[in-house]
Amino acid sequence: MIDWITPPRSAKLQCIIKVFVNMSAFRERKNLLGVQAAASPRHTLKRPISCVGYGLHSGVDVEMTLRPAGPGTGIMFRRVDLNVDLPATFNAVNDTRLCTVINAGDVRIGTIEHLMAALAASGIDDVVVEVNAPELPIFDGSAAPFLFLIESAGITAHAGTRARVEIRRVVRVEHENAFAELRPHHPGGSGFDLSLAIEFSASAIGAQAYHISLTPETFARELAPARTFTLAAEIEALQKSGLAKGGSLANAVVVDGPKVLNPEGLRFSDEFVRHKLLDVVGDLALAGAPISGRFIGSRTGHSLNNKLLRALFADPENFRINHGISPAMLQLTAA
Ligand SMILES: [Zn+2]
Repeated sequence: MIDWITPPRSAKLQCIIKVFVNMSAFRERKNLLGVQAAASPRHTLKRPISCVGYGLHSGVDVEMTLRPAGPGTGIMFRRVDLNVDLPATFNAVNDTRLCTVINAGDVRIGTIEHLMAALAASGIDDVVVEVNAPELPIFDGSAAPFLFLIESAGITAHAGTRARVEIRRVVRVEHENAFAELRPHHPGGSGFDLSLAIEFSASAIGAQAYHISLTPETFARELAPARTFTLAAEIEALQKSGLAKGGSLANAVVVDGPKVLNPEGLRFSDEFVRHKLLDVVGDLALAGAPISGRFIGSRTGHSLNNKLLRALFADPENFRINHGISPAMLQLTAA
Protein backbone atom coordinates (compact mmCIF):
# COMPACT_ATOMS: atom_id res chain seq x y z
CA MET A 1 0.00 0.00 0.00
CA ILE A 2 2.83 2.38 0.88
CA ASP A 3 4.19 1.97 -2.63
CA TRP A 4 0.97 3.37 -4.02
CA ILE A 5 0.65 6.31 -1.69
CA THR A 6 4.23 7.53 -2.02
CA PRO A 7 5.36 7.38 -5.62
CA PRO A 8 9.10 6.84 -5.15
CA ARG A 9 10.06 6.95 -8.80
CA SER A 10 7.86 9.65 -10.21
CA ALA A 11 10.88 11.49 -11.53
CA LYS A 12 11.22 8.74 -14.12
CA LEU A 13 7.89 9.69 -15.63
CA GLN A 14 9.61 12.46 -17.49
CA CYS A 15 10.12 11.61 -21.10
CA ILE A 16 13.47 12.27 -22.64
CA ILE A 17 12.57 13.53 -26.04
CA LYS A 18 15.47 12.87 -28.39
CA VAL A 19 14.13 14.64 -31.44
CA PHE A 20 13.06 18.12 -32.30
CA VAL A 21 9.47 18.70 -31.19
CA ASN A 22 7.44 19.58 -34.22
CA MET A 23 4.35 21.38 -33.01
CA SER A 24 2.82 21.36 -36.48
CA ALA A 25 2.15 17.67 -35.91
CA PHE A 26 -0.74 18.68 -33.67
CA ARG A 27 -2.46 20.23 -36.68
CA GLU A 28 -1.63 17.33 -39.00
CA ARG A 29 -3.57 14.88 -36.83
CA LYS A 30 -6.75 16.01 -38.49
CA ASN A 31 -8.40 13.54 -40.86
CA LEU A 32 -5.70 10.88 -40.57
CA LEU A 33 -8.26 8.26 -39.60
CA GLY A 34 -9.98 8.96 -42.90
CA VAL A 35 -13.36 8.26 -41.34
CA GLN A 36 -15.13 8.76 -44.64
CA ALA A 37 -15.50 5.80 -46.97
CA ALA A 38 -12.85 7.01 -49.45
CA ALA A 39 -9.56 5.12 -49.65
CA SER A 40 -6.81 6.63 -47.50
CA PRO A 41 -3.05 6.36 -47.84
CA ARG A 42 -1.14 4.55 -45.13
CA HIS A 43 0.65 6.64 -42.52
CA THR A 44 3.79 6.30 -40.46
CA LEU A 45 5.90 8.57 -38.26
CA LYS A 46 8.07 11.29 -39.77
CA ARG A 47 11.04 10.45 -37.56
CA PRO A 48 11.97 8.23 -34.62
CA ILE A 49 11.27 9.30 -31.06
CA SER A 50 12.50 7.78 -27.80
CA CYS A 51 11.57 7.91 -24.14
CA VAL A 52 12.25 6.16 -20.85
CA GLY A 53 9.87 4.98 -18.15
CA TYR A 54 8.99 1.90 -16.18
CA GLY A 55 6.39 -0.85 -16.33
CA LEU A 56 3.25 -0.74 -14.18
CA HIS A 57 3.18 -4.46 -13.44
CA SER A 58 6.86 -5.44 -13.70
CA GLY A 59 8.24 -2.24 -12.18
CA VAL A 60 11.14 -2.68 -14.62
CA ASP A 61 12.85 0.27 -16.32
CA VAL A 62 12.26 0.42 -20.06
CA GLU A 63 13.51 2.46 -23.00
CA MET A 64 11.07 2.76 -25.88
CA THR A 65 11.67 4.06 -29.41
CA LEU A 66 8.92 4.52 -31.99
CA ARG A 67 10.40 4.24 -35.50
CA PRO A 68 8.95 4.97 -38.95
CA ALA A 69 8.33 1.69 -40.84
CA GLY A 70 7.68 0.73 -44.44
CA PRO A 71 4.19 0.37 -45.96
CA GLY A 72 2.52 -2.85 -44.85
CA THR A 73 4.63 -3.31 -41.71
CA GLY A 74 1.64 -2.70 -39.46
CA ILE A 75 2.35 -2.14 -35.76
CA MET A 76 5.46 -4.21 -35.04
CA PHE A 77 6.91 -4.54 -31.54
CA ARG A 78 10.59 -5.36 -31.24
CA ARG A 79 12.39 -6.60 -28.12
CA VAL A 80 15.80 -5.12 -28.92
CA ASP A 81 17.33 -6.88 -25.88
CA LEU A 82 16.39 -10.27 -27.38
CA ASN A 83 16.27 -9.38 -31.09
CA VAL A 84 12.72 -10.71 -31.44
CA ASP A 85 9.85 -9.10 -33.41
CA LEU A 86 6.26 -9.42 -32.25
CA PRO A 87 3.51 -8.22 -34.62
CA ALA A 88 0.61 -6.51 -32.88
CA THR A 89 -2.23 -8.85 -33.79
CA PHE A 90 -5.07 -10.22 -31.70
CA ASN A 91 -3.90 -13.80 -32.11
CA ALA A 92 -0.54 -12.98 -30.46
CA VAL A 93 -2.36 -12.16 -27.20
CA ASN A 94 -2.09 -14.84 -24.55
CA ASP A 95 -2.34 -12.97 -21.26
CA THR A 96 -5.03 -10.45 -20.38
CA ARG A 97 -4.69 -10.23 -16.60
CA LEU A 98 -5.11 -6.49 -16.02
CA CYS A 99 -3.28 -5.60 -19.20
CA THR A 100 -2.89 -6.88 -22.73
CA VAL A 101 0.26 -8.91 -23.39
CA ILE A 102 1.48 -10.16 -26.77
CA ASN A 103 4.02 -12.92 -26.91
CA ALA A 104 5.98 -15.22 -29.18
CA GLY A 105 7.07 -18.27 -27.20
CA ASP A 106 8.68 -17.06 -23.99
CA VAL A 107 9.16 -13.51 -25.28
CA ARG A 108 6.48 -11.10 -24.14
CA ILE A 109 5.59 -7.42 -24.22
CA GLY A 110 2.92 -6.26 -21.81
CA THR A 111 0.67 -3.28 -21.22
CA ILE A 112 0.55 -2.43 -24.91
CA GLU A 113 -3.06 -1.18 -24.92
CA HIS A 114 -2.52 2.51 -24.18
CA LEU A 115 0.11 2.89 -26.92
CA MET A 116 -2.04 0.83 -29.30
CA ALA A 117 -4.98 3.16 -28.65
CA ALA A 118 -2.86 6.25 -29.28
CA LEU A 119 -1.42 4.80 -32.52
CA ALA A 120 -4.85 3.69 -33.79
CA ALA A 121 -6.55 6.96 -32.94
CA SER A 122 -3.71 8.93 -34.55
CA GLY A 123 -4.10 6.97 -37.78
CA ILE A 124 -0.66 5.32 -37.67
CA ASP A 125 -0.65 2.22 -39.88
CA ASP A 126 3.04 1.33 -39.90
CA VAL A 127 5.51 1.70 -37.03
CA VAL A 128 8.18 -0.30 -35.22
CA VAL A 129 8.03 -0.07 -31.43
CA GLU A 130 11.39 -0.95 -29.94
CA VAL A 131 11.62 -1.81 -26.23
CA ASN A 132 14.39 -3.33 -24.11
CA ALA A 133 12.12 -4.83 -21.43
CA PRO A 134 8.99 -7.02 -21.21
CA GLU A 135 6.58 -4.15 -20.57
CA LEU A 136 5.84 -0.73 -22.06
CA PRO A 137 6.23 2.37 -19.88
CA ILE A 138 3.12 3.27 -17.91
CA PHE A 139 3.83 7.02 -17.68
CA ASP A 140 0.83 8.58 -15.91
CA GLY A 141 -1.49 5.62 -16.58
CA SER A 142 -3.20 7.32 -19.54
CA ALA A 143 -2.59 7.49 -23.29
CA ALA A 144 -1.77 11.20 -23.30
CA PRO A 145 2.04 10.76 -23.06
CA PHE A 146 1.97 8.32 -26.00
CA LEU A 147 -0.04 10.82 -28.05
CA PHE A 148 2.52 13.47 -27.15
CA LEU A 149 5.33 11.24 -28.47
CA ILE A 150 3.45 10.52 -31.72
CA GLU A 151 2.61 14.17 -32.25
CA SER A 152 6.18 15.21 -31.49
CA ALA A 153 7.58 12.70 -33.99
CA GLY A 154 5.09 13.86 -36.63
CA ILE A 155 2.89 11.81 -38.92
CA THR A 156 3.32 11.37 -42.67
CA ALA A 157 1.51 9.58 -45.48
CA HIS A 158 3.46 7.01 -47.46
CA ALA A 159 2.80 4.35 -50.10
CA GLY A 160 -0.02 1.87 -50.00
CA THR A 161 -3.69 2.08 -49.14
CA ARG A 162 -5.08 1.73 -45.65
CA ALA A 163 -7.15 -1.41 -45.19
CA ARG A 164 -10.33 -1.29 -43.11
CA VAL A 165 -12.20 -4.06 -41.37
CA GLU A 166 -15.86 -3.43 -42.15
CA ILE A 167 -18.25 -5.18 -39.77
CA ARG A 168 -20.89 -7.07 -41.79
CA ARG A 169 -23.03 -8.63 -39.06
CA VAL A 170 -23.38 -8.63 -35.28
CA VAL A 171 -20.63 -10.44 -33.39
CA ARG A 172 -21.18 -10.87 -29.64
CA VAL A 173 -19.16 -12.40 -26.82
CA GLU A 174 -20.21 -12.68 -23.19
CA HIS A 175 -18.70 -13.58 -19.85
CA GLU A 176 -20.85 -13.71 -16.74
CA ASN A 177 -22.60 -10.31 -16.64
CA ALA A 178 -20.29 -8.69 -19.21
CA PHE A 179 -20.72 -8.52 -22.98
CA ALA A 180 -19.05 -6.99 -26.01
CA GLU A 181 -20.44 -6.62 -29.51
CA LEU A 182 -19.32 -5.41 -32.90
CA ARG A 183 -22.15 -4.29 -35.17
CA PRO A 184 -22.43 -2.99 -38.73
CA HIS A 185 -23.00 0.71 -39.20
CA HIS A 186 -26.45 2.16 -39.23
CA PRO A 187 -27.35 3.01 -42.87
CA GLY A 188 -25.17 5.90 -44.01
CA GLY A 189 -22.81 5.53 -41.06
CA SER A 190 -19.04 5.52 -41.25
CA GLY A 191 -15.98 5.40 -39.01
CA PHE A 192 -15.97 3.67 -35.63
CA ASP A 193 -18.55 4.44 -32.94
CA LEU A 194 -18.09 3.00 -29.46
CA SER A 195 -20.43 2.80 -26.46
CA LEU A 196 -19.47 1.32 -23.11
CA ALA A 197 -21.12 0.95 -19.70
CA ILE A 198 -19.39 -0.08 -16.47
CA GLU A 199 -20.58 -0.66 -12.92
CA PHE A 200 -18.50 -1.01 -9.78
CA SER A 201 -19.64 -1.42 -6.18
CA ALA A 202 -17.16 1.28 -5.09
CA SER A 203 -19.41 4.32 -4.99
CA ALA A 204 -16.64 6.62 -6.27
CA ILE A 205 -17.12 4.78 -9.58
CA GLY A 206 -20.68 3.44 -9.50
CA ALA A 207 -22.43 3.11 -12.86
CA GLN A 208 -20.99 5.09 -15.78
CA ALA A 209 -21.56 5.06 -19.54
CA TYR A 210 -19.82 6.79 -22.42
CA HIS A 211 -20.18 7.04 -26.18
CA ILE A 212 -17.64 8.29 -28.68
CA SER A 213 -17.37 8.58 -32.46
CA LEU A 214 -13.66 7.92 -32.78
CA THR A 215 -11.57 10.59 -34.49
CA PRO A 216 -8.09 11.84 -33.65
CA GLU A 217 -9.68 14.88 -32.05
CA THR A 218 -12.31 13.12 -29.94
CA PHE A 219 -9.77 10.57 -28.73
CA ALA A 220 -7.22 13.23 -27.76
CA ARG A 221 -9.81 15.33 -25.96
CA GLU A 222 -12.14 12.78 -24.36
CA LEU A 223 -10.27 9.50 -23.82
CA ALA A 224 -6.49 9.93 -23.95
CA PRO A 225 -6.11 11.76 -20.59
CA ALA A 226 -8.19 9.18 -18.66
CA ARG A 227 -5.96 7.15 -16.31
CA THR A 228 -6.03 3.51 -15.39
CA PHE A 229 -7.51 2.75 -11.96
CA THR A 230 -7.64 0.16 -9.24
CA LEU A 231 -9.38 -0.52 -5.96
CA ALA A 232 -7.33 0.04 -2.80
CA ALA A 233 -8.60 -3.26 -1.39
CA GLU A 234 -7.13 -5.17 -4.35
CA ILE A 235 -3.62 -3.74 -4.37
CA GLU A 236 -2.14 -6.19 -1.89
CA ALA A 237 -3.55 -9.17 -3.78
CA LEU A 238 -2.27 -7.74 -7.07
CA GLN A 239 1.23 -7.33 -5.73
CA LYS A 240 1.20 -10.84 -4.23
CA SER A 241 0.37 -12.12 -7.75
CA GLY A 242 3.43 -10.31 -9.09
CA LEU A 243 1.37 -7.51 -10.65
CA ALA A 244 1.30 -3.74 -10.11
CA LYS A 245 4.89 -3.70 -8.76
CA GLY A 246 5.43 -0.31 -10.38
CA GLY A 247 2.05 1.05 -9.34
CA SER A 248 1.64 4.34 -7.49
CA LEU A 249 -0.68 7.29 -7.29
CA ALA A 250 1.54 8.80 -10.01
CA ASN A 251 0.29 6.28 -12.57
CA ALA A 252 -3.17 5.12 -11.46
CA VAL A 253 -6.31 6.38 -9.81
CA VAL A 254 -6.88 4.47 -6.56
CA VAL A 255 -10.43 4.17 -5.26
CA ASP A 256 -11.43 3.26 -1.72
CA GLY A 257 -15.23 3.03 -1.52
CA PRO A 258 -16.54 6.58 -1.96
CA LYS A 259 -13.04 8.11 -1.96
CA VAL A 260 -10.47 8.79 -4.65
CA LEU A 261 -7.10 8.59 -2.87
CA ASN A 262 -5.16 10.67 -5.40
CA PRO A 263 -4.73 14.13 -3.91
CA GLU A 264 -5.26 15.80 -7.28
CA GLY A 265 -8.64 14.06 -7.72
CA LEU A 266 -10.06 12.99 -11.08
CA ARG A 267 -9.43 14.44 -14.53
CA PHE A 268 -13.08 13.79 -15.50
CA SER A 269 -16.00 12.92 -13.23
CA ASP A 270 -16.43 9.78 -15.40
CA GLU A 271 -12.70 9.14 -15.86
CA PHE A 272 -13.20 5.42 -15.12
CA VAL A 273 -15.47 4.58 -18.05
CA ARG A 274 -13.43 6.81 -20.33
CA HIS A 275 -10.32 4.81 -19.44
CA LYS A 276 -12.11 1.50 -20.03
CA LEU A 277 -13.14 2.82 -23.45
CA LEU A 278 -9.53 3.85 -24.12
CA ASP A 279 -8.59 0.23 -23.36
CA VAL A 280 -11.25 -0.99 -25.82
CA VAL A 281 -9.79 1.25 -28.56
CA GLY A 282 -6.31 -0.15 -27.85
CA ASP A 283 -7.38 -3.78 -27.63
CA LEU A 284 -9.47 -3.58 -30.82
CA ALA A 285 -6.54 -1.96 -32.65
CA LEU A 286 -5.12 -5.49 -32.63
CA ALA A 287 -7.52 -6.16 -35.53
CA GLY A 288 -4.55 -4.97 -37.62
CA ALA A 289 -6.52 -2.22 -39.39
CA PRO A 290 -9.14 0.38 -38.42
CA ILE A 291 -12.58 -1.07 -37.73
CA SER A 292 -15.52 0.40 -39.61
CA GLY A 293 -18.67 -0.22 -37.58
CA ARG A 294 -19.95 0.04 -34.02
CA PHE A 295 -18.81 -1.36 -30.68
CA ILE A 296 -21.23 -1.81 -27.80
CA GLY A 297 -20.01 -3.20 -24.48
CA SER A 298 -20.86 -3.56 -20.84
CA ARG A 299 -18.27 -4.26 -18.13
CA THR A 300 -15.76 -5.46 -20.72
CA GLY A 301 -12.07 -5.94 -20.01
CA HIS A 302 -8.97 -6.96 -21.93
CA SER A 303 -9.96 -10.62 -22.03
CA LEU A 304 -13.42 -10.06 -23.50
CA ASN A 305 -12.09 -7.42 -25.92
CA ASN A 306 -9.64 -9.99 -27.26
CA LYS A 307 -12.30 -12.70 -27.45
CA LEU A 308 -14.41 -10.30 -29.50
CA LEU A 309 -11.69 -9.99 -32.16
CA ARG A 310 -11.15 -13.74 -32.18
CA ALA A 311 -14.91 -14.24 -32.70
CA LEU A 312 -14.95 -11.57 -35.43
CA PHE A 313 -12.18 -13.16 -37.47
CA ALA A 314 -13.35 -16.75 -36.84
CA ASP A 315 -15.98 -16.39 -39.58
CA PRO A 316 -15.30 -14.57 -42.89
CA GLU A 317 -19.00 -13.72 -43.12
CA ASN A 318 -18.59 -11.38 -40.14
CA PHE A 319 -16.39 -8.83 -41.89
CA ARG A 320 -15.06 -7.49 -45.16
CA ILE A 321 -11.64 -5.98 -45.69
CA ASN A 322 -11.93 -2.85 -47.75
CA HIS A 323 -9.37 -1.01 -49.79
CA GLY A 324 -5.72 -1.95 -49.44
CA ILE A 325 -4.66 -5.26 -47.98
CA SER A 326 -1.27 -5.22 -46.34
CA PRO A 327 0.94 -8.27 -45.82
CA ALA A 328 0.02 -8.04 -42.13
CA MET A 329 -3.67 -8.24 -43.02
CA LEU A 330 -3.13 -11.24 -45.31
CA GLN A 331 -1.35 -13.04 -42.49
CA LEU A 332 -4.07 -12.03 -40.07
CA THR A 333 -6.99 -13.21 -42.19
CA ALA A 334 -5.23 -16.50 -42.95
CA ALA A 335 -4.77 -17.18 -39.22
ZN1 LIG B 1 -5.80 0.72 -19.43
